[in-house]
Amino acid sequence: MTVDERAEELASDLGVDKEEVKEDLENLVEYSVPIDEAVQSLRRKYGDGGDGSGGTRSKDSIDEITTADGNVTVTARVLNVGKRSIRYQGSDQVIFEGVLADASGTIDYTAWQDFGLSPGDTITAGNAGVREWDGSPELNLGESTSVAFEEETLEVPYEIGGDAELVDIETGDRGVDVEVRVSEVERRTIDGRDGETEILSGVLADETAKLPFTDWDPHPEIEEGASVRIENTYVREYRGVPSINVSEFSTVEALADDVPVSESGTRLPIREAVEAGGVYDVEAVGHIISIRDGSGLIQRCPECGRVIQKGQCRTHGDVDGEDDLRVKAILDDGTGTVTAVLDDEITEQVYGGDLEDAREQAREAMDQTVVADTIRERVVGREYRVRGHLSVDEYGANLDASSFAEVEDDPADRAADLLSEVDA
Ligand SMILES: [Zn+2]
Repeated sequence: MTVDERAEELASDLGVDKEEVKEDLENLVEYSVPIDEAVQSLRRKYGDGGDGSGGTRSKDSIDEITTADGNVTVTARVLNVGKRSIRYQGSDQVIFEGVLADASGTIDYTAWQDFGLSPGDTITAGNAGVREWDGSPELNLGESTSVAFEEETLEVPYEIGGDAELVDIETGDRGVDVEVRVSEVERRTIDGRDGETEILSGVLADETAKLPFTDWDPHPEIEEGASVRIENTYVREYRGVPSINVSEFSTVEALADDVPVSESGTRLPIREAVEAGGVYDVEAVGHIISIRDGSGLIQRCPECGRVIQKGQCRTHGDVDGEDDLRVKAILDDGTGTVTAVLDDEITEQVYGGDLEDAREQAREAMDQTVVADTIRERVVGREYRVRGHLSVDEYGANLDASSFAEVEDDPADRAADLLSEVDA
């Protein structure tokens, strides 16, 4: 059947003008959309659901795509386009990735070839592969996928482009653009996959948060204190928190005006920070509800530094443990809990003594758990402001504390003060 005949058939099926359908059809075919796909696409456009024949399922909306689908055809708006190089089956391959959206929702995509996508484009992706990632469907645009650019713009309730504030960035984000101040940076030589290579690593900051970063292809604009716009980054997990990756495909532009930076940590409810999968430099305020085992006077393996039980390291076996102080305290802010991990210095402050005092107390009691008991009595039930890096792993959420300060102003006192003012 010729394009003309298909157009005639389609026009009569859908009850629309043949010339209009034919023009659309020719357009799609010109963009190398297979004719069956093109017909499906037009059926959808003119308000017929399509019958799903042709080996791939046409989807009316993104929220209908499930991980059970094999291949789908969908019309969507391109929100952003990231470009990077990955090593795939032993060779370097450039991929394009980001988010597609329609009125019903969004879906991540990876394009294995350059379809010429730009943020804001409305496309019909024909025969796109569906794969599962982290329990959600994602689209693979590959060799057998056709991409047609639609003239009519699909309106979507999402922002076009990759601009993001640091507080909203999560592990797995791609095609992200940021405007930030470089608050720390160091140049390092690492053993990369192609031998020794120089990279930059450090910390980026904006008004909402701070995040660690790595620049795999050092950009001269990234220097301490500089305010820069970085386009086309991707986000990977590093030590339990999201880390911004700058690559050879990223562009870095120095900004004339300083980007404002927050001096405090990102203040977040614990539940939100945990759900984000980790937050760099976060501040949580809550009550200590208990002290976990492995707090107080502990012993570490001299080889690996891990906490040991009864002189046994899980990796190094029988070892001469070295004494240390630390606290694992459960902090609850009403939205969730996190284990605040206090290092030796903060533990000394909380305990009110140093390692020698702790040893002394343990010797006298002939039991080292008395040190943890003393700490427990001091902190449980009190309110603390804890700042540090929050990471989440299979065992739960940890907040590696850089500061741990009691909130002097107890809400009960505050209420009492307020009442006495009212009374007066
Ligand atoms: Zn060890």
